[in-house]
Amino acid sequence: MFKILEKTFRTGIVTTAYPESAPKLPLIARGLPEFHWADWRDARPAAEVCPTGAITVSDAGRSRTVTVDYGRCIACGECAAADAAVSISRKFELAAPARNDLVTFAEYTLDEDGTHTGLVRTETGQAVGGRLRREIDRVLGRSLAIREVDAGSCNGCELEIIALNNPVYDIERFGIHFVASPRHADMLLVTGPVTRNMELALRKTYDAAPDPKVVVAVGACGISGGIFGTNYATRGGVDQVIPVDVYVPGCPPRPEAILYGILLAVRRLRS
Ligand code: SF4
Repeated sequence: MFKILEKTFRTGIVTTAYPESAPKLPLIARGLPEFHWADWRDARPAAEVCPTGAITVSDAGRSRTVTVDYGRCIACGECAAADAAVSISRKFELAAPARNDLVTFAEYTLDEDGTHTGLVRTETGQAVGGRLRREIDRVLGRSLAIREVDAGSCNGCELEIIALNNPVYDIERFGIHFVASPRHADMLLVTGPVTRNMELALRKTYDAAPDPKVVVAVGACGISGGIFGTNYATRGGVDQVIPVDVYVPGCPPRPEAILYGILLAVRRLRS
């Protein structure tokens, strides 16, 4: 007993102040890649090494369109290794309420040698951090019950979700808690590419949760199937089976990123 008290006084408060203030990310924290569109001269090498098809290049006449889908990105960093115009960022507030918000594209003028030079325009998705910060105080006044559903994930996302309950993230300080039954849930937090074996269970869980309810798809697999995509064993993302309200990209997303997505979804629940 005294040892516990002594340790408590020695360590002090370890709980992060996020979202009240920016979190202190560890030095090794990695986010999703960042694309320096104006400096990019040739997107083909990055597209070739991307294992999930998150980067695509399509040419039409003298025009080239480069598309980046963060919903497919597994944060492997191969594109950054292949091209200096790509770097790995530390951004994590990337959750978005629409699938298309995770897609960014740029149009270039195509040169004779196959490279591109003139950036004609960039269309950035809504997945930019910070825009919710002023809403968070208003949102946190509500209690929320979450049922987590593992629809066939590798458990990487589950490790991050479990971390939300530890003293550092302490999600219960917001009145958010995890429940065992969908009948008690306001929100379903779903991971995995939805294996065909889990498809019926996911539908039943969704049907069992009372209205109003929101669904948050966590991780590249939950958004698009990730590295698995759609195949004989997987459906290729949660929204192929049940409606999704918020998408949280990453592989896996950090606990702060999941918390950000949950708060975004709570706003939807209230509206
Ligand atoms: S970091 Fe993402 S976009 Fe880059 S190669 Fe890996 S999966 Fe593709």
